[in-house]
Amino acid sequence: MAKRDYYEVLGVDKSASVDEIKKAYRKLAVKYHPDRNPGDKEAEEKFKEATEAYDVLSDEKKRPLYDQYGFAGLDGMNQGGGAQYSHAFHDFTDLFGGAGGGFSDIFDSIFGGGFGGSYSSRGRNGAVAGDSLRYDLNLSLIDAVYGTSAEIHYKHSETCTVCHGSGSAPGSSKKTCPTCGGMGQVRQGNGFFSITQTCPKCRGTGSIIEKPCSTCRGTGLLEKNKSVTIKINPGTDDGKRIVIRGQGDAGTNGGPSGDLVVFIHVERHPYFERDGNDLVCLVPISITQAALGADISINSLDGKKIAIKIAPGTENGKLLRVKGEGVPIAGTSKKGDLYVKILVQVPQRLSSKQKELLQLFKELENPPEEPKLVSWSQYQN
Ligand SMILES: [Zn+2]
Ligand SMILES: [Zn+2]
Repeated sequence: MAKRDYYEVLGVDKSASVDEIKKAYRKLAVKYHPDRNPGDKEAEEKFKEATEAYDVLSDEKKRPLYDQYGFAGLDGMNQGGGAQYSHAFHDFTDLFGGAGGGFSDIFDSIFGGGFGGSYSSRGRNGAVAGDSLRYDLNLSLIDAVYGTSAEIHYKHSETCTVCHGSGSAPGSSKKTCPTCGGMGQVRQGNGFFSITQTCPKCRGTGSIIEKPCSTCRGTGLLEKNKSVTIKINPGTDDGKRIVIRGQGDAGTNGGPSGDLVVFIHVERHPYFERDGNDLVCLVPISITQAALGADISINSLDGKKIAIKIAPGTENGKLLRVKGEGVPIAGTSKKGDLYVKILVQVPQRLSSKQKELLQLFKELENPPEEPKLVSWSQYQN
């Protein structure tokens, strides 16, 4: 379900050069291209995944954003039709060695000789992939750490039920596009350098709607309310993206649906902070508990009582580790730890009896009038 890291998809290092990225993508594109694997859904997914990864990692603007912020860094960069895999094949000539040298053989066998979007967002028959949608989900720290399921409600476009996505009013039919003669593509230029482009008149569909469907106004799509229940795994962290394939906007003319991408935002807890797989909390104790030691108990994030032993002479800022009371580690039965930071509190108001006793304590303590300084580097909590 979760989206794979782009480097992992292409099987290259984070430090891979542009050439290495090209090489890796070329290998995958050759293997999984839909023209070579007709009807193979898995190959198509692999091809889409690789193309999307290549699209980002070969782009000098997108790659640093992805490196720094992950998928979230690319947010908003893919807007406009086709979204995730609307990868135009503009740089395939470059990728396969340029039109001059040995390219045409590979090209013909893989892409069927048809340059210009045999698998771009508008394919030969005008198939357009639906847009992927973003949903921002806020979770409490407790739900994120221990896992939950969340029902989310959103709007997306579905295939029109009246015209079944054709866009034509019932009873009417589509007319063959006069510009491209139903091919969906027009050839420009001549001889060796001719290129095939999506027909501008029918936008690649090969046909023209004469009488638009009144329900969807000829778009073939209707906006619908949708709800999906998603599982939040224990240990989910802030910034995670959960991709639900095919739950975005519907495609048209047989194009695949976009995805629903759920961005996880974890709210701050009043008492617990997350640090990787560990949890941290701050526990105040009195000066006498610090000096004499004490047995105290605190509530863990999930409300469990946890006994804490304060050793005599515990310093302010001391970190005590409670093993296995942290965040569940994904894919294992292990948990991180809970760190309890001790905050020694000096009493702000003293009764006369307390004052008297502390005075007595002071006489016994006999602190030096000129304290010896303590070095910063040696005093670290
Ligand atoms: Zn319709
Ligand atoms: Zn046309």
